[in-house]
Amino acid sequence: MKRFLRKPLMLGVFLPAVALTLGAFSYQPLHSDLKLPIQALPDSELESPESLSRVDVRVPDFTYTIQRGDTLSTIFDMLDVGQAAMYQVLESDVSILALDTLKPGDQLSFWLYEGQLDQLELRFSPAHQVVFSRAGEETFEYSEVRVEGEWKEEVVAGDINGSFYVSAKRAGLTASEIQKVSALLQDKLNFRRDLRAGDSFQVVRAKQYIEGEATGNTRLEGLRILNRSRELTAFNFEGQYFDLNGDSLARAFMRYPTKGRYRLSSRFNPFRKHPVTGRVRPHNGTDFATPIGTPILATGDGVVTRVTKHPYAGLYIVIEHGQKYKTRFLHLSKALVSKGQTVSRGQKIALSGNSGRSTGAHLHYELHINGRPVDAMKAAIPVAEGVNQADRLAFDSLRDRLLAQMNKQGQG
Ligand SMILES: [Zn+2]
Repeated sequence: MKRFLRKPLMLGVFLPAVALTLGAFSYQPLHSDLKLPIQALPDSELESPESLSRVDVRVPDFTYTIQRGDTLSTIFDMLDVGQAAMYQVLESDVSILALDTLKPGDQLSFWLYEGQLDQLELRFSPAHQVVFSRAGEETFEYSEVRVEGEWKEEVVAGDINGSFYVSAKRAGLTASEIQKVSALLQDKLNFRRDLRAGDSFQVVRAKQYIEGEATGNTRLEGLRILNRSRELTAFNFEGQYFDLNGDSLARAFMRYPTKGRYRLSSRFNPFRKHPVTGRVRPHNGTDFATPIGTPILATGDGVVTRVTKHPYAGLYIVIEHGQKYKTRFLHLSKALVSKGQTVSRGQKIALSGNSGRSTGAHLHYELHINGRPVDAMKAAIPVAEGVNQADRLAFDSLRDRLLAQMNKQGQG
């Protein structure tokens, strides 16, 4: 493996102690007496055979499990890996924005070479890892590992007694699953006013397992709410949700995240080369030359899953649209929504800006399908139609299978 000469790093140019808040937990300063569950390994184990791929078979030098209140800064300090390396990793992270999703219990593994950080792995679950590998004196590249594993279905059912949130929580749905249910049926049901005691619900939830271990990832496969004489349903067919009749539950996506049209200043390009290093630095979004303060619109119905500041991406928002689609909006000046909020297509969610590392005022807009960034200007975006005629039989049999599961649980 090629190694790089390292110049003395100019620490002075880096921002002072940036506190990145991890996961959903607000930042709290670390106590000085914090015990570090760092597993230092004997030197003899460090020299294992060279790996063939970037998924490293070498034993890491340190492994650290994230605790509540940790920040990336303090972890890098504790491990004495250096803030400069942290900023280099963060610079690479702007293309994937994985560091902001770290939460207590996730694991960081560090590989060092001659005292410098050579590789960092974020382990979110057995199903999902992101690896940052040194690609030059001051640059890292990332790779992402996703394992599909096995999904097992279960039914979560209950009666309405109090609010939908309280009733669903009692039955065993998580807060984020409840948000997804609300987002799916937002046009059909007023969750605050329409539900009555005695109404009931059934949700078919799939849980992901890898080699028998639950990863914590879940998927809503189907749901039904019996609201007096009404029946509200949603079925996940190939990543999109349809009702009993096969009509789409989501409105069509908008191609552009703004009301007016703005010059496209940089296109989606997975092979874009860094102008200085010449290395591939993917551009996972589309840039629009929006003046600071331009209203930014949600391109589809969904749930806000992140409103975060990143030293390079600036203030950014992530919205999940059902199971399959996700959008991201970077370099904003102001967020008009908060995490957990349900949004509908065309809703004003933010004002554009020039925050983070940006060469001028613009909006960087990303569309992800099944966890991978795609060209938002060219990708097939959801249209508000029903199930295709060609898929009709497959949809009907999926729907009937899910309904049968709900019926078993729902009659009690
Ligand atoms: Zn961009």
